[in-house]
Amino acid sequence: MQQARHDRSPGRTPEQWAALVTELRDLFWIAPAQRPRVAVSSCLLGEAVRWDGGHKRNDVLIAELASWAELVATCPEVGMGMSVPRPPLIVRASGGNLALVEREGATASGRDWTAALDVFARDRLRAIAPLDGFVWKSRSPSCGAAGVTVHEVANGATRAVATGAGIFVCRARVAFRGVAEIEESGFARESTAAAFRIAAEWSLAWRSAAGSARSIGGVARVHRKLRDWWIAVATPLARRLDRVAGESRGVKPSGAGAWAAAYEQVARGGLRALVGVAARSRGGSSSVSRETRHRVAVRIVHRLAARHCTKRGLRSTSLIR
Ligand code: SF4
Repeated sequence: MQQARHDRSPGRTPEQWAALVTELRDLFWIAPAQRPRVAVSSCLLGEAVRWDGGHKRNDVLIAELASWAELVATCPEVGMGMSVPRPPLIVRASGGNLALVEREGATASGRDWTAALDVFARDRLRAIAPLDGFVWKSRSPSCGAAGVTVHEVANGATRAVATGAGIFVCRARVAFRGVAEIEESGFARESTAAAFRIAAEWSLAWRSAAGSARSIGGVARVHRKLRDWWIAVATPLARRLDRVAGESRGVKPSGAGAWAAAYEQVARGGLRALVGVAARSRGGSSSVSRETRHRVAVRIVHRLAARHCTKRGLRSTSLIR
């Protein structure tokens, strides 16, 4: 399917984004052959693995990613042993956990696939590491990054009770904390796609600096090297990282690993937010209705609340209003 891009980057031109990528790669002496590793839902690459035997090939996404990323295709539903075609799945809330089950109907019995998915996710996510980004198929009960309907079965009736992420996405987030994500719709906007690339390229750069960036002095050196680059990417993020880097005084050598991890977490969180901010900035705030702004505000509040929910599988779920 051919999709068209429908925005010019608010704030930055494609040339400016490209210059930021070049600068980052030069700073870390990253060879042209070295590319960020990005896992992609297989159906977006044109593989006929969907429940109905079809695919969701996205040419814009493929053209963009093929120019700078090393792609790792993954279909969790086929990987965990389901056939093509197969009964459609839903996410079901059950006993405080989320389960991936067949939607009950003429051809399906409500079979629970969660255990099979867990085995596949553990092995597959280990096998494809390291990763610098994820591209997810929206609304899929396995691959959707947000807005996936969570169902509840009560008194023989199935009803929607919440929205959240797909079950495989939840497992991937635990295995690859902070790695940037985007759904296929994000590639329709140059700004979002560019921000995603920046996040993935930084992840590759950080990996390439892994040896030197795991000591107190090493992180400080990496930060000094990148400071102007951070300011060009996002000034508030640069300030936050300044604070983390400045807190190195008083850190004992035994705490260097945790401190480096804190720096990494702030950087990754800021870059993930940048992808999200770029997505939200489409069309400028003036074209966003009051109702939409209210909905976004409610979603942000729920997201903050969800951060405090440590229960496995429920971390990105929010109640429907
Ligand atoms: S959305 Fe995910 S699980 Fe569904 S067909 Fe695509 S890759 Fe497979």
